[in-house]
Amino acid sequence: MNQRVTLNTPAIEARPFKVYTQRQLDKIPQLEQLPEALRFDMQVVSQVLPFRVNDYVIEELIDWNRVPNDPIFQLTFPQRGMLKPEHFDEVAELMQQDAPADQLKAAVERIRAELNPHPAGQMDLNLPLLNGEPLPGMQHKYQETVLFFPSQGQVCHSYCTFCFRWAQFVGDKDLRFSSNEAESLHAYLAEHTEVTDLLLTGGDPMVMKAKHLRLYLEGLMKPELAHVQNIRIGSKSLTFWPYRFVTDEDANDILQLFRELVAAGKHVAFMAHFNHWQEMDTPVCREAVRRIRATGAEIRTQAPLLQHINDDAKQWVKMWKMQVQQGMIPYYMFVERDTGARHYFEVPLVRAWDIYREAMQQVPGLCRTARGPSMSADPGKVEIQGVAEINGEKVFVLRFIQGRNPDWVQQPFFAKYDEQATWLNHLEPALGADQFFYEAGFAAMKAEKQALIFKA
Ligand SMILES: *Cc1c(COP(=O)(O)O)cnc(C)c1O
Ligand code: SF4
Repeated sequence: MNQRVTLNTPAIEARPFKVYTQRQLDKIPQLEQLPEALRFDMQVVSQVLPFRVNDYVIEELIDWNRVPNDPIFQLTFPQRGMLKPEHFDEVAELMQQDAPADQLKAAVERIRAELNPHPAGQMDLNLPLLNGEPLPGMQHKYQETVLFFPSQGQVCHSYCTFCFRWAQFVGDKDLRFSSNEAESLHAYLAEHTEVTDLLLTGGDPMVMKAKHLRLYLEGLMKPELAHVQNIRIGSKSLTFWPYRFVTDEDANDILQLFRELVAAGKHVAFMAHFNHWQEMDTPVCREAVRRIRATGAEIRTQAPLLQHINDDAKQWVKMWKMQVQQGMIPYYMFVERDTGARHYFEVPLVRAWDIYREAMQQVPGLCRTARGPSMSADPGKVEIQGVAEINGEKVFVLRFIQGRNPDWVQQPFFAKYDEQATWLNHLEPALGADQFFYEAGFAAMKAEKQALIFKA
């Protein structure tokens, strides 16, 4: 093994990366103890929503005594409620009747298409152009930040049941945002000196080999890309495969790359996706966190608030405290997005705000860096700041944390209080307004971008 990095590592043994997908669902030994009906439900749902889980998750993260209510089981295994009843019944019947494969496939494809696999204008509005040509593996929604989806990073070590990126995993080539063009990424960034942040995302970019990751990131150290100061890597590998940074063959090469970027003056922020404290409570995860931080990279954390997984203030308190104690920085609490099995996970905005507030009240200041609850919606990231009464009208107070137009950011605005609302499009302007302040500007922006794409 590569010995460039000397660390006083507690004895963590390598383990083989053993993964189960839909076809091997019935080969997972721990499932044998579960009722037959529950296992059939999982078979049905996994036809539609992609499933992939590994041995580490099964053996170290899930408390099988608490299944099906265990949060990590809910996070990784398909549940009946994730499909609408009519969808579930349709697939279940086809399976029970042993319907021909192409008939099942057609039904599954139709159901998937109904699940809004690409929310928030991702397909067109955010597409950057280079020399008038669209660049498919990228999104440029906010002035200072470019999102890049490396083509080798379009899978995950395991899949989350709430994943809104599942369209990328199911072999639907047209929908796949991918690009193996590190060069076009660098060329685009060189032309856009307003971009200070590159956010590498996926899937999970940390499924890539170190040499691929290097291909994308090394070039950022060139003088013509000096304006790209901050490199973020969004990843759930600390949950699903912390061995990536500890015992994997190229673990030290990854850490070495981070170290080089830091030495070159870049801020490397590892954006760790954690939904539940149970994901971070293993020796190998602690060791991975320690190693990443030892390179000079920061770890910031973010997660959606999800029914069945983490809709409980106590959980967030414990999770944020554990993160801060390990040197991680809480960054975002998100609202579950309008895609996939949303109806199963969604929590009313007012409840999300209650959970956020209740959690914030119980944590030290170092944990209070987490913003939210925030909706990553079409016009931008909108935070629910609270509920207030203005001239006798009960309202939500909202603000843009991020906006397609920087002018929108930090302006408080108001929506009618609504106990059921779970997303921005359910909200109506309050205090006699007939639209939200950003709507006219946003409509103009959309028209302009569509015209540009049409020309390209
Ligand atoms: C969240 C997000 C970013 C990053 O936003 P920050 O506020 O800088 O963390 C960038 N692009 C898109 C599309 C996002 O959703
Ligand atoms: S870690 Fe992210 S990309 Fe991977 S399955 Fe979960 S939500 Fe999807």
